[in-house]
Amino acid sequence: MRRWNGWGDPQISRPLPVGASSLLELSLGSGSKIPDVTFETVLDSVPVSTLPPHDLLSIDAEARLRHARGQSLPDWIALRTGEIDTFPDAVALPSCVEEIQDLFKIARHTDAIIIPYGGGTSVVGHINPPASEKPVITLDTRGMNQMMDFDELSHLATFQAGASGPEIERSLGELGYTLGHFPQSWEQSTLGGWIATRSSGQQSLLYGRIENLFAGGHIETPVGEMDIRALPASAAGPDLREFILGSEGRFGVITDAVVRVSPIPEREIFRAVFFKDFTSGVRTVRALAQENPLASMIRLSDAQETATTLALSGKETWIDLADFGLRLVGHEDTRRCLMIYALTGSQAEVHGSRSRVKEIVRAFGGLPIDLMIGELWKKSRFQTPYLRNTLWDHGYALDTLETAVPWSRLLDTCEGLKSAVQDSFSAQGSVALVMIHTSHMYKDGAGIYLTYIFPRVDSAGKMVQLWHAAKTAASQCIMDMGGTISHQHGVGEDHKPFLIREKGAVGMSVLEAVRRTLDPESMLNPGKLL
Ligand SMILES: Cc1cc2nc3c(=O)[nH]c(=O)nc-3n(C[C@H](O)[C@H](O)[C@H](O)COP(=O)(O)OP(=O)(O)OC[C@H]3O[C@@H](n4cnc5c(N)ncnc54)[C@H](O)[C@@H]3O)c2cc1C
Repeated sequence: MRRWNGWGDPQISRPLPVGASSLLELSLGSGSKIPDVTFETVLDSVPVSTLPPHDLLSIDAEARLRHARGQSLPDWIALRTGEIDTFPDAVALPSCVEEIQDLFKIARHTDAIIIPYGGGTSVVGHINPPASEKPVITLDTRGMNQMMDFDELSHLATFQAGASGPEIERSLGELGYTLGHFPQSWEQSTLGGWIATRSSGQQSLLYGRIENLFAGGHIETPVGEMDIRALPASAAGPDLREFILGSEGRFGVITDAVVRVSPIPEREIFRAVFFKDFTSGVRTVRALAQENPLASMIRLSDAQETATTLALSGKETWIDLADFGLRLVGHEDTRRCLMIYALTGSQAEVHGSRSRVKEIVRAFGGLPIDLMIGELWKKSRFQTPYLRNTLWDHGYALDTLETAVPWSRLLDTCEGLKSAVQDSFSAQGSVALVMIHTSHMYKDGAGIYLTYIFPRVDSAGKMVQLWHAAKTAASQCIMDMGGTISHQHGVGEDHKPFLIREKGAVGMSVLEAVRRTLDPESMLNPGKLL
């Protein structure tokens, strides 16, 4: 069971440590704690379905409410206040490819649209039903979650697209393998969703992004089926996988995918480093990424994120001690930045890499910390999203945004983005705690991930307005800096207005032409991406 109006398993909660609570109170004051609308109240507001009954469709109000929104901040505001203006008319849970083909027939017959749905963890409005005259069927793929084939010699595994992160790792783990794809939403998101949004896992430095892991698969499109062979490499014209990666449910339903897997590594360690400031940290992570001494993850937080991460860890006595030690060696608390890195490989490789990482880090004035912090980060990496529920209960809303730029523009983009969001909140008479980290390193650049927390206000409309102003300012800044409108979350509804600046008019017409070819009736997820 999943929380209907927030993140994750309703049985799991993460309390807010006292230190974090005072940090927020000091920086932001207190936000509105107006209670959320109840599940029963929202359930009563679900309108009658316009679709006729069918064995493959559920028109149950609860199923339709649970598939109405994803995880973006506007989605949360809608669910928590009950101001939800669209619901799917039916939810389908197909168990095989033939049922998906039948659903296409039903959609054609009833002039309905179909929204492919994986884990529903989209943060950019991918799976929200549009305001449309047409009935909406949400096609939930999670009934198709099995491993179908394992080719050990080739290190290839085939899974149905609705398999979630834990389901994939469980099946592979029993065979001594891993996919190594760990987005922070891993517990809930699915293989099909990762491919359709071009997802990036936290250890992409070693395992690659989903585009490196996706070798081929089967796609059901409204004009017929498409099989993409899994090949080690090919010069047979443009690669069709590229049309499926990032297709956001518009070009077809991915039913199964062949993925490249790796033997479970013999050893993996997560460690921390402190830098005196963000600039020296960025120089270091660039040097590490360009040499890449077998790290599977490198992630550098700015001073604000460092202070907040430490406060949120709840290990106050330990942090006071570390703070004392860091001050002694000249690391001021207002500027110090935390890097977390992971080394993955054989015992000997990890040992060798660790010495090399430390050498590079020290050359830039960094202070390696072997105790606790890195492993603690790893332990809580999938629990951090639960804090969003807790923050909301304490009167605060949290949202994130992200991009990637070449190294030469990384520092300026970080500064520009932080100012864009801060200024937007000030201009609206509000305030935000803005923090940033860089992760997902490449030889030519890196991802930037910004988190902001602001006090909730009583009106849903005002909250959405605050979000919209900040999102627009940040997206403008990303475009002006020549970044991508999304490094990992995709386009959905929220990034769509900016896509043309990134792809250009000809690029957009190519994508439209692909959409028209595969889905001439615009049956699949209209209004998203294009
Ligand atoms: C707390 C949190 C942390 C996150 N962390 C990360 C992260 O670290 N890295 C990252 O990349 N993303 C992250 N995300 C974003 C999100 O998890 C990803 O976009 C993820 O790939 C979505 O997968 P899903 O299965 O939930 O897809 P959904 O949200 O259900 O769908 C997303 C899109 O994919 C399409 N789709 C889904 N399945 C199929 C299919 N079988 N065939 C065709 N189209 C399909 C849908 O139509 C939709 O357009 C995070 C989100 C949250 C809420």
